[in-house]
Amino acid sequence: MSSRSLPHGPLYSALKTAVDAHRAAHPSLPGAVPRKALVIVAWFVASWVALVFLSQTWWQAGLAAVSLGLSMAGIGFNVQHDGGHRAASTSQPVNALMALGLDLLGGSSYVWHWKHNVHHHTNPNLVGHDADIDIEPLVRLSPTQAWRPWHRAQHLYAWALYALLAVKWHFVDDFVNVATGRISGCPFPRPRGKDLAGFVIGKLGFATWAFGVPLLFHPPLTVLAGYLVASVVLSLTLAITFQAAHCVAEAEFPDPNAPSVEWAEHQLRTSVDFGGSSAFVRWFVGGLDHQTVHHLFPRVPHVELAGLAKVVREVCRAQGVAYRELPGFFAAVASHGRHLAALGREPVRAPLSTAPAPA
Ligand SMILES: [Zn+2]
Repeated sequence: MSSRSLPHGPLYSALKTAVDAHRAAHPSLPGAVPRKALVIVAWFVASWVALVFLSQTWWQAGLAAVSLGLSMAGIGFNVQHDGGHRAASTSQPVNALMALGLDLLGGSSYVWHWKHNVHHHTNPNLVGHDADIDIEPLVRLSPTQAWRPWHRAQHLYAWALYALLAVKWHFVDDFVNVATGRISGCPFPRPRGKDLAGFVIGKLGFATWAFGVPLLFHPPLTVLAGYLVASVVLSLTLAITFQAAHCVAEAEFPDPNAPSVEWAEHQLRTSVDFGGSSAFVRWFVGGLDHQTVHHLFPRVPHVELAGLAKVVREVCRAQGVAYRELPGFFAAVASHGRHLAALGREPVRAPLSTAPAPA
């Protein structure tokens, strides 16, 4: 299925006018995101050094592996995500360098560009377009996906699958996507030339720091255990944060066959903020507690999203469009659990007509 482009309309014009005016009056500090990126990359390097070279006992190694997994999620939220959206800096080489943060984590920034920037951001929560809601047939995230009997328990087992997200990424998804030229059924141009070289170098670089160097100093099972702890922490942090912003009871999952709305309204129907979170959660998730503003203005640095939420909320109120919010991170996680449970129940089918056939 090819990517569907929704049109811009008066709602987007009103939002853009208000947001541009606010940004002109309240510019963010130049270089704020790259400076934050340096702090988080230093956290990542310190965690890796502690895990590979300094840990003397299993619990020290365990803490270092947890810290490594969290720092990797921090790179995902604050470094590669802003860089990949070209939102981190006015310097495109700085954005390009930060986008490569995903290759450092073992994922392909080339595949991510198509999967996230193009397919997900163009049509969030739309089956057949948004790969983020495609965990079929194991998990049903949209009412337009087929129900299976095991979905009755998906609110219990989905979390265990989320824990495997990074392992699947590292060893399956990117390779299958590049080999087939498809991401969840959507075609994308397979990497060639320097993009293919970047894909290979990224995967080799990840294999070197995650497995190659540690294997010079530790037995294979120890290295595997460290990788699994870090990757489970990384996976759960990334998966739950993104599910909390789109796959909650308060979000809509448009029917691909229903008449489409203007682009901004689709973004507002399918994204939910959890902006009442603590300052630490906001810092750590790279402003994605205001996912709605990010979806409307993906080229804005994440440090501006919380301030712009007030502006967007005002415009939505004036235009009579709902701005969807939950009071904090844990409220959003609970709503995701309710969403999984609701979609796990067998859909009620319309009764067959019992009216006599016409003579
Ligand atoms: Zn994004």
